[in-house]
Amino acid sequence: MNILVLGSGGREHTFAWKIAQSSKCDALFVAPGNSGTAEIATNVNIGVNDFKAIKELVLDKNIELVVVGPEDPLVNGVHDFFLNDDDIKHVAVIGPQQKAAELEGSKEFAKEFLYRHNIPTAAYDSFTKDTVEKGYTFLETLNPPYVLKADGLAAGKGVVILNDLVEAKAELKSMLVDAKFGEASNKVVIEEFLDGIELSCFVLTDGEHYKILPTAKDYKRIGEGDTGLNTGGMGAVSPVPFATDEFLQKIEDRIVKPTIAGFKTDNLPYVGFVFIGLIKVGDDPKVIEYNVRMGDPETEVVFPRLKNDLVEVLLAMANGTLDTIDIEIDERAATTIVLVSGGYPEAYEKGKEITGIETIEDSIPFHAGAVLKDGKIVTSGGRVMAITSYGDTYQEAIKKSYQNIEKLHFDKMNYRKDIGFDL
Ligand code: ATP
Repeated sequence: MNILVLGSGGREHTFAWKIAQSSKCDALFVAPGNSGTAEIATNVNIGVNDFKAIKELVLDKNIELVVVGPEDPLVNGVHDFFLNDDDIKHVAVIGPQQKAAELEGSKEFAKEFLYRHNIPTAAYDSFTKDTVEKGYTFLETLNPPYVLKADGLAAGKGVVILNDLVEAKAELKSMLVDAKFGEASNKVVIEEFLDGIELSCFVLTDGEHYKILPTAKDYKRIGEGDTGLNTGGMGAVSPVPFATDEFLQKIEDRIVKPTIAGFKTDNLPYVGFVFIGLIKVGDDPKVIEYNVRMGDPETEVVFPRLKNDLVEVLLAMANGTLDTIDIEIDERAATTIVLVSGGYPEAYEKGKEITGIETIEDSIPFHAGAVLKDGKIVTSGGRVMAITSYGDTYQEAIKKSYQNIEKLHFDKMNYRKDIGFDL
């Protein structure tokens, strides 16, 4: 069958890498893709939100399965676009419909869902411009640090955590009254601060059944020791060493089951990946957030550990037969280290030639912000490449990734040297 992956990051290269291994895949397209996907698929220069062009491509190339990588097209209703068009409604789309994508598109919607289904999460309230005074009063009832979240999508920047009450009130005003994050902060969710260690759980669902993929932990901050600005993610480790069987059982019973049941009860059509951001408080898991797609760079460690034919799994999701699939996981650990452009997550230069990729041994270089230009691979984004390795232990895997990174070069290349050191 002919398959299309939407997106251009390391996550989408990993999807393409795994799909290309399937005997069920005849032709693979990635839109817009990157230099990594160009090696194993046909890149098509179409934006992920250009639904009209995507439809033309699907019809032209006889595509029967579309896998949506990032959240934006899902929140914008790409799945509904397919369902509402007679020409393409037969195409299987992996990713929830718009109504369900609100779980990521609106933090208030997600908190209401969590509360309605008694899923453990931080206490909260939400406020608008008209209720900003009530917001100040609510902040006074909380202990620091104060967690303020813009309701809508803000490219991972919409969460502000402050220790000082006066600053928290000023931030609330800036978000609601001065529209700091534009429309995304028309509403602000204020949450109780949860103190613990974070991990991510990935679930596949066909809307009725579910399967749990291995857990992963990502490293969000730019600096060693988890300091400095937030990024899209600087590295990841799977499995998470502190996620014991007992803890995983709690996640399944208290969080995964009611989440999937909640989709049905609330009539949220969901065929896709559920990324549950969790925090371990004491011995108990609590939900920080839902994302309606796989994580990046977590995909780069979770999918390499999946032994199944990914296309078979995706088709079972689309056909409502996920219960017939046995998920098989590689016992080895997988880790990834992300190489970024110097300056990222602030301003950085692009167009730097990346050398040494062909010398990598025993690691998988997943390309992200990297494109082909005049026969060379050059940087095109902040996060440039994710170097994934397997190991009998995560320490061994990390060592392999770091050894291979020594052989890679681009001007002002930066990466964290401490991925996994805290575990
Ligand atoms: P992402 O960029 O991961 O999509 P986001 O902008 O959607 O993030 P959240 O995941 O809700 O926002 O929050 C971002 C980060 O802020 C979390 O990963 C966590 O470290 C921290 N955080 C969020 N809520 C809380 C909380 N209630 N208590 C403590 N820390 C929190």
